[in-house]
This record gives sequence, C-alpha cells and structure tokens, in this order.
Amino acid sequence: MTIETTSQVKFGVTLQSCEHEARAALTPDIVTRLGKKSVSCLVESGAGLAAGFSDEQYAAEGARICTHDEVLHDSNALGFIERPEGKVLDDIGRGTWVIGMLSSFSDENYVAELSRRGIVGIAMERLPRQLSSAQSMDAMTSQNSVMGYKAALRAADAYGGFFPMMTTAAGTIRPAKVLILGAGIAGLQAIGTARRLGAVVTAYDVRPASREEVESLGASFLDLGIDLSAGQGEGGYARELSPEEHAAQQAAVDKKAADFDVIITTAKVPGRKPPMLLTSAGVEGLHRGAVVLDCAASELGGNVEGSKPFETVTTPRGVRILGDPSLASEVPATASALFSRNVADILLHFIGENGLTVTEGDELEEALVVSGKPAAPAIAEAAEAVTAAATEERTDQR
Ligand code: NAD
Repeated sequence: MTIETTSQVKFGVTLQSCEHEARAALTPDIVTRLGKKSVSCLVESGAGLAAGFSDEQYAAEGARICTHDEVLHDSNALGFIERPEGKVLDDIGRGTWVIGMLSSFSDENYVAELSRRGIVGIAMERLPRQLSSAQSMDAMTSQNSVMGYKAALRAADAYGGFFPMMTTAAGTIRPAKVLILGAGIAGLQAIGTARRLGAVVTAYDVRPASREEVESLGASFLDLGIDLSAGQGEGGYARELSPEEHAAQQAAVDKKAADFDVIITTAKVPGRKPPMLLTSAGVEGLHRGAVVLDCAASELGGNVEGSKPFETVTTPRGVRILGDPSLASEVPATASALFSRNVADILLHFIGENGLTVTEGDELEEALVVSGKPAAPAIAEAAEAVTAAATEERTDQR
C-alpha cells in the first residue's frame, strides 16, 4: 500500500459526541510534547471539558481552539476515542489520517468504507503489543487498567455491604467475597483494587499463565475442576473455546458463583463476541443483594446472560446485573491522559523527514495501517522532481 506523505503535521481532536464518553483523545500536556516535534494541534472548543481540561489550558500549551468543522477540515491527522461515524466521517477529507480504536477485527465493512473514502486508517487495536517499542502506544492496556480499577469501585458502590472486614461495637462484619472472571489487564487491576478495599478475592481466567498472576496479587485462583489448559492462543491471548469446553466452563462457573457476593467479569477474546461465562442459571443461584458487573456487556451480548449495556437489570430474586462497557470513561482525566500519550506516540512514530509516512518493512507501522490511499504521487517524490529540475536548470545555465 502506498500512502501519500504530508509535510506539516496538523493533529486535530473533536468533541466526542457519544453520550457515554467523557474522555478526550488529547490532553494539554501532550500538546506541548507534540509541539516540540513540530506537530501543531487543533482542538475543538470544549473537547476536553468533560475530562477536566479547559480550552484555556489547551491554548496555553499552544493549541489552536477551533470549531468542529475547522478541526475536521484543517487537520491532516485526527485522533478519536470513539471511531468517527456518520456526518463526522463524511466531513473527513481524502488523505486524512484517522487514529483510534477502529474495530477493524470485527467490522470489515468499516475498514472498506475508510478505504473507499481514501482515509488512512490507523487501528490502535492492531498494535503489536509484544514489541517493547509499542508499550507506550498500547491503549488496550491503558484503558483496560483504568476500567479494571473503576470496576472494583463501581461494584463496591453497588453492593449493599462493606468490602472489608470490620469489627464494630455492634459486631464483626465479614468481608465481601468477590469473584473476578477474566484476569487480563482489567481483571488484574480489579483484583488489586478490590483487595485494597479489603474484599476476599478469587479470580479465574482461561489462560494457564494467569494463575500465577492472580496469586501474586494475593487472590485465590478459582478451581473449576476442568482442564482448559490449552486456553491460551497466539500472543499470550485467550483462544476461543470449543462449544463443548464452553458449555463445561459455564456449568462449572454457574455452580461456583453461588459462593460469592460480588462478581465482576472482564473476559474477552480479541476480534470475537465476548464469551458468556455466567448464565441465568448461575445468576439465579446468587443470594438476594448480590451484584454482578459485566464489563464486557454489549449489544451482541456480554459475559453474563441477561446483562444490558449501560443498564442495571434486577432479577426477580433481587440480584442486580450491571452492564457497563465504558468504565474507563468514568475516570476521564486519567484515562484521557494515558490515551493521549498512546495516540501521540503512535502519531510521532509515523512522522519521517517528509511528514506522515509509512516506512516499508516497519513491523509496527505496517500492523497499524488498515486503509490508505491507493498509489499516489508522494510529496517527497514531487519535491525530488523539483530539486532535480532545478539542478538541471543550473547546470544548463553554466
Ligand atoms: P482481553 O481484554 O482481550 O481479555 C481479558 C481476559 O479475558 C484475558 O486475560 C483472557 O484470557 C480472558 N478470557 C478470555 N476468554 C475467557 C474465558 N472463556 N474464560 C475466562 N477468561 C477468559 O485481554 P487483555 O487483558 O488486554 O490481555 C490479556 C493478556 O495479553 C495479558 O494478560 C498478557 O498476557 C497479554 N498481553 C501482553 C502484552 C505484551 O506482550 N506487552 C501486553 C498486553 C497484554
């Protein structure tokens, strides 16, 4: 794929229009950082307000505060928390670079649409996370960490009892028993946070490596009594279980769930629908007042049967199921600061001598680019042609 280069990089961010989104793709400190690398920043007025950053703060660091349309028209690279859709996408010009979580694994049509429009799509979910040079660009890790932290707080808030053990004049309160299903980046943060709140934590993950990680945080690993030791797929991720394995896992989780007061689920398989780990039968077995928080809840389903994104469902037996897929947005200042650093480092990686360009053979860059302009005369080539013509002219004159 040949991609047109652009000389002066103008990086823009708009106000996120999604109802549940409070994060900003750029924070004021990163404006300064980008400015030092000759990248100018365009920020839609109000873009950082929900995350706690005012227009004045961005302007003080050197950003140009613009209208929504100005950002889209005057920038040659745009950063997004939520990928651009509808009218926003319509207003992005050909050749513009769009950096964000583009759901490229699960939505080929979207990638095709970017290609059709000549938009250069940089899909952050495709970051080769195993590369040490990619660590500071890893938005999956940064946002999932924030999500896991907030998940424990949200569950503690929703639960009608204490998380810690407490001895009072009126008696001793036993600590809450918390189960965390899916012990990846988010799950491990949830374990740490729930433990710091004083809960007794048990966790489970299908990857064999996770047992040690769970135990190193002082939690117990849930023994389901079934062997899913082949649950690890490529790159350290979970693989999708076979229908038989999945059914066995559900039955075992449903049975064990009854021992807990709070269940937090964070299980995902990259590019696939989240696995359902707890069925209605398992939820039925929980005691009245128990809380289930499904961080994977989505329109396609989540880890818990009956969970609904952005809703709390109360079962007839008094168990509350909270579906919250955007917990990172509920810690918007920190989540934005981390995301902004991730996006900026990706952007800077693509900046070469002639501005934004994709270096052939660069593993990281080639992994991230999902759509781009078909072969087009690059500015670099045009500049070379002008230089060659000028040299020729000077030689003739001598
Ligand atoms: P994720 O968000 O895709 O998944 C969350 C967790 O759900 C994972 O731990 C996964 O194993 C688990 N899961 C999936 N199906 C399950 C099932 N049926 N039952 C129980 N659990 C299930 O992944 P993530 O949290 O972003 O990362 C997962 C792992 O990837 C990390 O723990 C790490 O090993 C690896 N990783 C490596 C790097 C690196 O190389 N630098 C960076 C980030 C992550």
